[in-house]
Amino acid sequence: MKKFSYLEREELLSQVEEKQYDLIVIGGGITGCGIALDAISRGISTLLIEMQDFASGTSSRSTKLVHGGLRYLKQFDISTVSEVGKEREVVYKNAKHVTTPEWMLLPIYKGGTFGKYSTSIGLRVYDFIAGVKKHERRKMFNQNETLLKEPLLKNEGLLGGGYYVEYRTDDARLTLEIAKKAHELGADLLTYCKVNNFKIENNTINGVVVQDLLTNQHVEVKGTKVVNAAGPWVESVIALDEPIKGKNLLHTKGVHVVYDQKRFPLKQAVYFDTEDGRMVFAIPRGGKTYVGTTDTIYQGDLVNPTITKEDIDYVVSATQFMFPKLKLTANDVESAWSGIRPLINQEGKKPSEISRKDEIWKSTNGLYTIAGGKLTGYRKMAQNVLDKIQSELESINGNIYVACQTKDLRLSGGDFDTITELSERAKTIPIFEKLRIDDRDIDMLVQQYGSNIESLKLVAEEMNSSEGISIPVQLMVDYGIDYEMVIRPTDFFIRRTGSLLFNRDWLEKWKEPVIDYMADKLNWSTLDKVKYKEELESRISEIDVR
Ligand code: FAD
Repeated sequence: MKKFSYLEREELLSQVEEKQYDLIVIGGGITGCGIALDAISRGISTLLIEMQDFASGTSSRSTKLVHGGLRYLKQFDISTVSEVGKEREVVYKNAKHVTTPEWMLLPIYKGGTFGKYSTSIGLRVYDFIAGVKKHERRKMFNQNETLLKEPLLKNEGLLGGGYYVEYRTDDARLTLEIAKKAHELGADLLTYCKVNNFKIENNTINGVVVQDLLTNQHVEVKGTKVVNAAGPWVESVIALDEPIKGKNLLHTKGVHVVYDQKRFPLKQAVYFDTEDGRMVFAIPRGGKTYVGTTDTIYQGDLVNPTITKEDIDYVVSATQFMFPKLKLTANDVESAWSGIRPLINQEGKKPSEISRKDEIWKSTNGLYTIAGGKLTGYRKMAQNVLDKIQSELESINGNIYVACQTKDLRLSGGDFDTITELSERAKTIPIFEKLRIDDRDIDMLVQQYGSNIESLKLVAEEMNSSEGISIPVQLMVDYGIDYEMVIRPTDFFIRRTGSLLFNRDWLEKWKEPVIDYMADKLNWSTLDKVKYKEELESRISEIDVR
């Protein structure tokens, strides 16, 4: 297994200046990582540059669903419904450890967004157009059946429910598995490096100036083509090339709140109406229930988007509207997260009415920009932009590259048939038995890392157990550092394990020992250790809204 580690970063940085890449990708969210994977699997030599950790932007701050295109059915956009529905299946097939089918309940109320008849027809049409598998096709419930599925729902006006499948994902880990696969196939990827400028010759961009944010050094890198996949930051990247004209971006903010399951014991994922005619999700995950999202115009800090009292109050009041028995208040909210949608502005439309479709445009100096879109469509977005870039590259350098390969390309960790089979196999691995890793932890590791459990086996074989940290946690940290480009504690606790939002007790228990362990392993100075600790504490306090 090829390592993907901070410990090799310095060497890579010293080499990049000498290389001539076919393609440089700016942004390590799902869009940029998807492009890097598609490009390298076509044979296009690729460098990806990300100024934070992978998925630090919108790609770790979504509702965490690989959606079908139900939203587009309401707008009679049949071709999008068909494409998105089928694409959802591709995402699932290639990364079953990070995407899980989740039945979603759509309660139908008198005077609500969906009528009983229209929901029944709509979901049936959706099954057909989106090519939904037989056992995942929609069911319709009467009032009692709906309440049996979710007894906490408001009774008043309830007519019944539609029941259909969405796919739940871990957005940050999905992004990471794409990045890891791109690296496995030969792409170079650098995190904590920022593109500060372009190199332009004869009205053509032929490289970028990169600032290593860990050392403050600058390097120049040559790339025949450059694509800007900087999500909410795409306009600031375009501005390095030419003044913004034509399309402009609208940032809207989406806030989700997290309740403990003890306070909000939701049994069943629900997609429901708000009083102001929008729709939000309530989703059980681990021991928590999360609800969201808001959709409001935003002009503040993009790195750490704010969460206001109004955001929390809006989601709490929407929750209370649909689940009145719980009598939830803002004090019940355990934590929250906030993400920014980079939408292509459409004059005169409200934030929630603006299309979520992606768009590609090209500057006079040849910079490609891709923005908008969804997690779900990341592979198609990459395919569309690379079809354009590939033909330009072929006419510039005379190379012939293969066509898009990603439809049947398993992501890192996705090489298995069923999780159960993989877990059973993992339980017979001698080193795990020798280290006394119990079956529950093996199940958890397999669920998280999929077929990369094989790399964890290698890590376990080389591991010297350390004091103060349990074997499974040490294994996760070692694997994170050696194979997942973990550089800072926030990388590990927020995006590699999701514990900041969904496993706070675990985070509180392990944050000190993990920071001590990482400091030793990565030779941090005392100053660095203090800085990284403070960074984690500050992220904890940001999402702590109580
Ligand atoms: P980002 O993830 O933001 O990545 C851009 C990256 O570029 C960032 O990491 C940033 O650090 C980096 N960058 C910026 N400037 C530079 C520079 N100069 N140099 C180097 N790097 C740079 N989609 C779904 O399919 N399902 C959902 O359930 C869903 N829910 C959502 C809920 C919310 C609240 C929001 C906001 C979005 C949701 N989406 C959902 C949409 C989805 O999350 C986004 O479409 C997707 O994550 C965008 O990814 P991206 O890579 O384009 O942007």
